[in-house]
Amino acid sequence: MSDIHIHINNKTYTTADSRRHTAISDFKLTLPENKFVCLVGPSGCGKTTLLNIIANLDTQYQGEICLDISHKKNNIGYIFQNPRLLPWRTVRENIELALDSPQSDIIDSLLKTMQLTDIQHRYPEHLSLGMSRRVSIIRAFAINPGILLMDEPFVSLDAPTARQVRGLLIQLWKQRPHTILFVTHDLREAIALADRLVFLSASPMSVISEIEVTIPRAERNNETAIESFRQHLLVQHPEIKELL
Ligand code: ADP
Ligand code: MG
Repeated sequence: MSDIHIHINNKTYTTADSRRHTAISDFKLTLPENKFVCLVGPSGCGKTTLLNIIANLDTQYQGEICLDISHKKNNIGYIFQNPRLLPWRTVRENIELALDSPQSDIIDSLLKTMQLTDIQHRYPEHLSLGMSRRVSIIRAFAINPGILLMDEPFVSLDAPTARQVRGLLIQLWKQRPHTILFVTHDLREAIALADRLVFLSASPMSVISEIEVTIPRAERNNETAIESFRQHLLVQHPEIKELL
């Protein structure tokens, strides 16, 4: 395994009135193996566009993505804002469907860590929003992806539920380390989760700053520690203020 290198020279869209809109320009980013990287940038700056390019859902761009993860069969996991569970399948069946072969022990262990063992035979309509997000996280980890992309996955959750799901995600990630690229516009959320923060400019998107989060993992559920790191960040890096 190795780091992932992303270099996008140019990504343009043709708008409805046939004009060209440059969404991403001269964008360079390296994702260190098994690190948790959070992208923070204003709405409409190009974050989803970037994830779609990395996931190979969008091939209309100039540049290259070096993902040396060929030894892994299912090399990209993608968790969207909406969990996209199949309503006519149970929680467990939704997870099994992501796998090529039955792996009961892995699913049991993932359900246990995410505290969903008791509801594994429920259908999605009987799940809370937080539970649905936890199922989509399990489904993505189950395929053991070379990179896990997460696009504002907790945006619709209330604050206590979001905090709980973030804690469970980190627990799972510690047990099963993966390279994660997580998009958010919430700086406190990014500080609670990330090893490294990447701040992005408004359209056309490029990297403004990369900052390591130095709060020990054991203190990441301490709101005061998060807030004081945030204040410190805004003083040390005034260039990020206008992006938030
Ligand atoms: P973000 O996820 O950061 O909010 P997006 O990647 O969705 O931003 O969009 C970046 C920019 O590209 C926005 O200005 C958006 O309007 C534009 N855009 C996104 N998708 C399309 C599309 N299919 N056609 C034209 N413009 C698009
Ligand atoms: Mg988006």
